[in-house]
Amino acid sequence: MNKDANVAAKRHAAKIVQRLERAYPRARCSLGFASPLELLVATILSAQCTDQQVNRVAKDLFRKYRSAADFAHAKLADLEKDIQSTGFFRNKAKNIQQCCRQLVESFNGQVPRDLETLVKLPGIGRKTANVILGAAFGTASGVVVDTHVARLSRRLGLSRHKDPVKIERDLMSQLSKKQWIVFSHQMILHGRSTCTARKPNCDECVLADVCPRIGVES
Ligand code: SF4
Repeated sequence: MNKDANVAAKRHAAKIVQRLERAYPRARCSLGFASPLELLVATILSAQCTDQQVNRVAKDLFRKYRSAADFAHAKLADLEKDIQSTGFFRNKAKNIQQCCRQLVESFNGQVPRDLETLVKLPGIGRKTANVILGAAFGTASGVVVDTHVARLSRRLGLSRHKDPVKIERDLMSQLSKKQWIVFSHQMILHGRSTCTARKPNCDECVLADVCPRIGVES
């Protein structure tokens, strides 16, 4: 991207940031957690599952399993049963257990605070690592790109890519670092409430006058 295009892209992003901040001033992670470990487990559970359902399941789960060691030493069949209603429970239980075993063996049961280490843990991809670092430690390691952020980024002309890593790279270059964490929470809220996958409500959208509506049928 040349210098002029880069300045224009940042200006466009700044307008979007301003509107979203006004519309969602209290946006934050909607997964409930009381520790980095709880957020790590909740984030694994949230794949293909609503945050509300994860929060429902997590309430009892975190009463039963209070440490990485508890998850590491649990009977896999019990853990599967405990998280069954979040879907894909066999895979999720396996990932939670393997991840917690590694936390116990290599990190004294604690969740590491850097992206490079986190993404090497079983079941933890870049998106999950960004969620954990941003919400549990307040560290801006990147921009969380989930399905809402990806869809809105394309419609809003912030990225033309489909690959989350490339979308994240575009967003990181257009936003200031202090905006990285909250921006994705605001985009997720806007994606759920207004710019939904099937029927974006452009008529009542706070971004209507700055959005090029790329790929949206009129
Ligand atoms: S104007 Fe339409 S496409 Fe653009 S962000 Fe709003 S709802 Fe989505």
